[in-house]
Amino acid sequence: MCGSQNLTAKPHATWPPPDGAPLTPPYEDFLGQPSYEVCPTCGFEFGNDDNPGGTAPPVSFAEYRAGWMETLAAIAGAVVAFFADHEVASLRLPSGWFGRPHDNWHQLTEVATEGGDVLIRLDGTQVLTLEAEATSSEERVLRVTIRGGRWDWTEYGANQEHTEVLGPGNVEFHAPFHR
Ligand SMILES: [Zn+2]
Repeated sequence: MCGSQNLTAKPHATWPPPDGAPLTPPYEDFLGQPSYEVCPTCGFEFGNDDNPGGTAPPVSFAEYRAGWMETLAAIAGAVVAFFADHEVASLRLPSGWFGRPHDNWHQLTEVATEGGDVLIRLDGTQVLTLEAEATSSEERVLRVTIRGGRWDWTEYGANQEHTEVLGPGNVEFHAPFHR
């Protein structure tokens, strides 16, 4: 429903939805057996988010997508606000520190949302492409929870480009203690 290429199964027995199908939840009424897969891109759980049971309200594809876009915009906004407060930060990836903690200071160049990703450009040339889920912050630390992503960077003093694939976990920005 978000156009993810990473689903392992068809979301419903009838997929894609035929033209003119009444697309209101629960979708199994129109599209048959759901996969119950959680979309690795947007997090929608087919057959559950649209048909949660109990007193929980069903969520339509359109509603979910709108909420997801809001979440991505909020994450981008949190990154902008953090750098506005702290100017620089060192970077911790799910795999560990990038460079030496509290020694490699990065500046924010820009943040954008593109498709389902949050793009964070640092120091002009280095780009985090994040399948971001949520954000939280403590005083000096901004944490972005990701399902996955990519870190493209150029080695300092060289022109060699590197790409690191990021697994699920947290990308953290740590601001200096005090300046
Ligand atoms: Zn999706």
